[in-house]
Amino acid sequence: MRRLSGRHAKAGSEKPRPAGSRLAARGSRPNISRRVLDLPPYLFADLDRLKQAAIQKGVDVISLGIGDPDLPTPAPVVEALARAARKPENHRYPSYEGLLSFRTAAAKWCGRRFGIAVNSETEVVSLIGSKEGIAHAPLAFLNPGDAALVPDPGYPVYRTSVLFAGGRPVTLPLLEKNGFKPDLGSLSRKLPARCRMMFVNYPNNPTGAGATLDFFQELADFARRRGIIVCHDAAYTEVHFGEDSQHPPSFLQAEGAGEIGIEFHSLSKTCNMTGWRIGFAIGNRDLVGALGKIKTNIDSGVFQAIQEAGIAAFQIAGEHVRMMSGIYAERLAVVQDGLRSAGIEFCRTDGTFYVWAKVPKGHTSMEFAKKVLDRTGVVVTPGHGFGQFGEGYFRITITQDVARLQEAMSRLKALR
Ligand SMILES: *Cc1c(COP(=O)(O)O)cnc(C)c1O
Repeated sequence: MRRLSGRHAKAGSEKPRPAGSRLAARGSRPNISRRVLDLPPYLFADLDRLKQAAIQKGVDVISLGIGDPDLPTPAPVVEALARAARKPENHRYPSYEGLLSFRTAAAKWCGRRFGIAVNSETEVVSLIGSKEGIAHAPLAFLNPGDAALVPDPGYPVYRTSVLFAGGRPVTLPLLEKNGFKPDLGSLSRKLPARCRMMFVNYPNNPTGAGATLDFFQELADFARRRGIIVCHDAAYTEVHFGEDSQHPPSFLQAEGAGEIGIEFHSLSKTCNMTGWRIGFAIGNRDLVGALGKIKTNIDSGVFQAIQEAGIAAFQIAGEHVRMMSGIYAERLAVVQDGLRSAGIEFCRTDGTFYVWAKVPKGHTSMEFAKKVLDRTGVVVTPGHGFGQFGEGYFRITITQDVARLQEAMSRLKALR
C-alpha cells in the first residue's frame, strides 16, 4: 500500500485520522503566488463583522448591500432547465464556444434589442456568467506590462483581472461632474504608455449612470484612433427606467465599434439568474476568438441544459424586463423619497438597481456605513470599496420589497 504522505504518517499508525483533525501540521506554510499575496485587502471585513454581531444580538438587519436580485428566475426558464436536464446528450462535455443554438438565440436577441447584426458562429461565445469573460479578457488581450484603463469607482474584477494577466491597471476616474463618464479629452492628452485596453460599464455599477449612443460613438472614435480594445460590461442594459425609446444602448451600435469592441452580456440581472452562471460575449471576431482560445485552455464551457434554459430566457426577456422595470421603478421612488426626507443627496439612476448617494459631511464613506449599521441595522456599501473616487459616496441596492425599503428609509431618517 502506498502512503500518501510519508512525512506525517508514523510507521505502524494505520488508524484513520479523527474527523475534524487539521489537514496540515502547524508551522509550515506552502508558497503562494505574488498575484494572490498582492491582492488588495478585503475592505468590508469590519463591516461584515459588525453585521454578523448585529444579527447575533437580534437586530432586524436590512441589507441594502449586495447586488443580487431578490425575485426568482421566471418559471418558463426553470421549466426549460428541468426538461433539458433530463436529456442525456446534455450530460456530456459542452463545446467550449457554446451551443450554436444558444449563440444564435443570443445573436437574435441582440438584433431585436439593439438593431445590430451579430454572426452567431464567429462573433459570440457563451460565458459562465459575464464575470468569467471579463476576468479572462486581459489574458487574451494584454502582454505583460501593458496598461489597461479601469474605471474608478468600478466593479473590482476589472482591476484584479488586469493584475492577474501581468498587466498594469491605470485608474480612469469617473467623476460626477462628467456624469460618471471618463473624460476622453484629457485622456487623449495623457494616455499611459502601451495602453492596450479599457473597461467601461453602462448602465454603471455602482453609480447608476447611463451612457448615450453619442458617448459610445465618441468612445469608439477615440479607441480606434488610439488602437485600444474596448471591453464593455453590459450586465445592466436591461435594468432601466426610461421609456422604450430610451433603452440603454449597446457599445456595438456605435459606428466602427465592431473593429475594437467586445461586449459582455449576462442573463444574471436581466432574468434574475445570478446563481445560474450564464452570459455571453459578442463583438469583433478576433477578440471573441482570442477569448475563446483562453477559455478552451481553462474551462470546458457552460452546462448545455443551462444554455437551453438561456434560450428560453431570451424568449421571455422582453416581457420579463418590462415587468421588472415597473417593480424597480416603484422601489427606486421609495428610496429616493426616503433619502430626500432624510436630507441625503443622491445621484440620478438611469439604470441598474443602485442608488449612489452622498455621504453627509464629516464622515468617510466607511465611517458612515458603520454608523448607519450600528444605529439603524441597515447595511449600505461604502463607496470607497469601489475605488478611491468612490470616497464620499455610498451605494444602496433596491433588491428588497417596498415595505423593507420603506422601513430602511424611515430608520435612516431617524438617524439625523
Ligand atoms: C453583476 C455584475 C456582473 C456579472 O454578473 P455575472 O453574474 O457574472 O454575469 C458584471 N459586471 C457588473 C458590473 C455586475 O454588477
